[in-house]
Amino acid sequence: MLSSLILVVSLLLAFGALAGFALVVHSIKREDRRRSLTLSPQSALSSLSRRMLGLNVDHTPCAIHPEQACPTCAKVNDTLTV
Ligand SMILES: [Zn+2]
Repeated sequence: MLSSLILVVSLLLAFGALAGFALVVHSIKREDRRRSLTLSPQSALSSLSRRMLGLNVDHTPCAIHPEQACPTCAKVNDTLTV
């Protein structure tokens, strides 16, 4: 009885870890396909994946060299100057 309980719990943990890994991989591929890493996270899954992976974008170089800014900062600069 105890061994079957341990087996069930370990299978649940394994499937949970596998599902979490699949969700993170799906989120990474979706953001890569959209080329949206410099944008704000588009969904809670994207936000969670970025937090888990420690991904953030430093826009300091965009402020120092506005002619080489990322698309997000370039778009903001265009709307501010027009
Ligand atoms: Zn930027």
